[in-house]
Amino acid sequence: MLLHNKSIAIIGGGPGGLTLARLLQNKGVTVKVYERDSSRDVRVQGATLDLHYQSGLKALEAAGLMDAFKENYRPGADKIRILNKDGVIFFDEHGKEPADNFGDEWFRPEIDRAPLRDLLLNSLQPDTVIWDSHIVSLKKVDDAWQIIFKNGTTAIADVIVGADGANSKIRPFVTPVKPFYSGVTILERNIYDAKNNAPKIYKLLQGGKIMAFGDSKTITMSAKGDGSLDFYIGFKAVDGWVKESGTDFKDNIKILEWFKNEYAAWDDSWQELFEYTESYFTPRPLYCMPLNQYWKAQPDITLIGDAAHLMPPYAGEGVNIAMLDALQLSDSLTGNSFTNLKSAIAGYEEEMFKRFAEVGQESLDNTHWMHSQEGLSKIIELFT
Ligand SMILES: Cc1cc2nc3c(=O)[nH]c(=O)nc-3n(C[C@H](O)[C@H](O)[C@H](O)COP(=O)(O)OP(=O)(O)OC[C@H]3O[C@@H](n4cnc5c(N)ncnc54)[C@H](O)[C@@H]3O)c2cc1C
Repeated sequence: MLLHNKSIAIIGGGPGGLTLARLLQNKGVTVKVYERDSSRDVRVQGATLDLHYQSGLKALEAAGLMDAFKENYRPGADKIRILNKDGVIFFDEHGKEPADNFGDEWFRPEIDRAPLRDLLLNSLQPDTVIWDSHIVSLKKVDDAWQIIFKNGTTAIADVIVGADGANSKIRPFVTPVKPFYSGVTILERNIYDAKNNAPKIYKLLQGGKIMAFGDSKTITMSAKGDGSLDFYIGFKAVDGWVKESGTDFKDNIKILEWFKNEYAAWDDSWQELFEYTESYFTPRPLYCMPLNQYWKAQPDITLIGDAAHLMPPYAGEGVNIAMLDALQLSDSLTGNSFTNLKSAIAGYEEEMFKRFAEVGQESLDNTHWMHSQEGLSKIIELFT
């Protein structure tokens, strides 16, 4: 095997990095995951994820984790309601029986990020993940890579996989190509104990998802298994708005005022999302890697997931293709199709570039039409 006697360092323990670690360990490869979070108990935020037959579920199947997934997925959490800014429901999947047909390519079961992370972590050999490992740089030392951590310590590995997400510290060692701004910014946060802290919206959500459209703006929401809800509002803004607006995103009172102003034409019932004061908003200007990005493969370093192909979240594909990257990279590195590491990495990267050119285009297209005056009519057309 190409990785015989080689040590692999995966930088970042998100869905992409952990899936890769599991797949490589199943093939007997020596692997460590270096993760910035201080421990596995750090609360995992973010929306519920639907996993797709050809990508996320395929990777879990190959990793031998479908039983664990079936114990943790949330039947019915995919049921969606589509509303306009006045709170009128235009499309509603509640009332439909929840599907649970794992063989059907259109069945997209939902799982929360924390249980997904847990099931991947539980599948790894003890001490695979080195927590509290904030990587700041890499250095080539003879034929190996020295990994440099923020606290001044170092580690050595033969092969590096950058799975460290949107602001990857590994990406510059693979390519100088940078992301561009999509034109849309989101503000995201979690409301804990949503039943009590946002009772009207909680009732409207019914344990599923909501998408609301109006005036070229959106609100996207999902109920989570721990009783919280995650939502993000999307709106057009100039690049640099987060800094230039001078908004203090830790000042919930000011953000409520901002919302009342910016979403003035929206029904007052949406304000419940902003009246909660126990958590802060994360502003995220949405960036995308160039769809035609390309680089020459190296024999000992590559990228997967958002580090390779960051894109806006409106195609619902990011986690799915991060996991598919992991599967294809693992297959290339541990199978018999390639004669050396450079061609194995090149083989994986060729597929990854092609896949991203398509999925990235879809995510950009969705981002643009959803934040246009036609957003509501177009989504209704799609769903019906
Ligand atoms: C609001 C929002 C909603 C989304 N909704 C969906 C959805 O519904 N479906 C979907 O498929 N995708 C969705 N996505 C996209 C999805 O979250 C990402 O595509 C996916 O998480 C990428 O996985 P990853 O493993 O590549 O990176 P990440 O999940 O970003 O994981 C990277 C890991 O690396 C660690 N890390 C970062 N920097 C360092 C460092 N310097 N040193 C060490 N460790 C580091 C981080 O702590 C993290 O654990 C959404 C994204 C957003 C922002």
